[in-house]
Amino acid sequence: MVQSALATAAEAVEDPWLNAQRQYDLAADLLGLKPGVRAFLREAQRQLIVAFPVKMDDGSFRMFEGYRVQHNLARGPAKGGIRYHPGVTLSEVKALAMWMTWKCAAAGIPFGGAKGGVVVDPKKLSMGELERLTRRYAAEISVLIGPDRDIPAPDVNTTPQVMAWIMDTMSMSAGHSIPAAVTGKPIAVGGSQGRNEATGRGVAVVALRACTHLGRDPRQSTVAVQGFGNAGSIAARLMEADGFRIRAVSDTGGAIWSDKPLPVLEVLEHKRTTGSVAGFPGTRAISNAELLAAPVDVLVPAALENQITGRNAGAVQASLILEAANGPVSPEADEILAQKGVTLVPDIIANAGGVTVSYFEWVQDLQSFFWEEKEINERLEHIMNASFEATWEASKRLGVPLRLGAYTIAVQRVAEATSARGIYP
Ligand code: NAD
Repeated sequence: MVQSALATAAEAVEDPWLNAQRQYDLAADLLGLKPGVRAFLREAQRQLIVAFPVKMDDGSFRMFEGYRVQHNLARGPAKGGIRYHPGVTLSEVKALAMWMTWKCAAAGIPFGGAKGGVVVDPKKLSMGELERLTRRYAAEISVLIGPDRDIPAPDVNTTPQVMAWIMDTMSMSAGHSIPAAVTGKPIAVGGSQGRNEATGRGVAVVALRACTHLGRDPRQSTVAVQGFGNAGSIAARLMEADGFRIRAVSDTGGAIWSDKPLPVLEVLEHKRTTGSVAGFPGTRAISNAELLAAPVDVLVPAALENQITGRNAGAVQASLILEAANGPVSPEADEILAQKGVTLVPDIIANAGGVTVSYFEWVQDLQSFFWEEKEINERLEHIMNASFEATWEASKRLGVPLRLGAYTIAVQRVAEATSARGIYP
């Protein structure tokens, strides 16, 4: 009885939506936002819950629940990924949508924030089932999404192929191709060069920037990466190319530690053939908790939210954290890490590379005019550097951690847009 009460209290503290609102409140306080705007930005503008059937391979029908949330549309169409995971909740999707609003604003990209998700373990579905689930979910949320309204993208367990199915479903119903309806698509159907790598590339860019500001040599810096998917593995590969020494990585199959730098491409190949980083030759198996507390200089959480909380923040040994994942560090952990003098580059800055190149993809689709990868990477680097520098400056000027520095910039921009538009009617 006592135990379950404790568990419930801990869950409440780690509710992603409550965490997102708490992070926002700190910025709203610091900015002295007027009560009306403040209350408006604190809520998600639109929340759609869908329940839909999918025909399984054995002929039976199974019901699934999904969501699409638009947090704010003041600065442009909504933008945000779609997540397939058994742990997806409305609270999580709302938080992810709010974080997208701030991320787009901090990067100066003319989008609002959205997110979607389906409660499903896609690894337990066949390709055919996954396609039917995706198409039906896309049809259900088509009342909200569209190239000038709300543009989905990949997130945890969704891929360029999933995006292609969504784009095709929207296009079939319209009777013509709508490539700008989603981003993160395969190049063959209007995807952008550089999009697949963009989130990891952005993380690597801010890693270098942070080292410059902290007076550190990347070649002397060791790194642990939690989550070896799109964001984490590409960040690891590009950071390795910049000289960082990757010493620990993990995925849902386990975590590994190496006494010498890991050859990231070989670890990727091992994961491709075996399904996990676990068991990579010459490494030692460690627990997820050990990875987060590993004796490294840089920690890159690149899996899910709430991985570093009030319960384990004290054990973190890294002095620089780059949030490749969304919301991996809870507000309690933020306070503990700040007291320990840890520099934390927040998600809305560190992982903004994905939405930045998604924006480029959308612009290219609307113009039917495609850019070269070099140009995309240069523009991406420019935006990542500019938003990192603005955040660093705001944090120093205000005497607050980087997260709050970034939030003041982002929330201010959204508040300004909201005030300029006025309240309808
Ligand atoms: P992904 O599905 O490609 O990879 C997720 C990885 O995390 C997988 O390797 C999985 O095994 C691992 N993982 C999950 N739970 C774990 C755990 N408890 N411990 C260790 N590993 C675990 O997803 P992704 O697109 O790389 O997204 C990862 C994070 O990055 C999410 O928070 C997502 O919102 C964020 N993000 C992604 C993008 C993008 O463009 N893909 C953009 C911005 C932010």
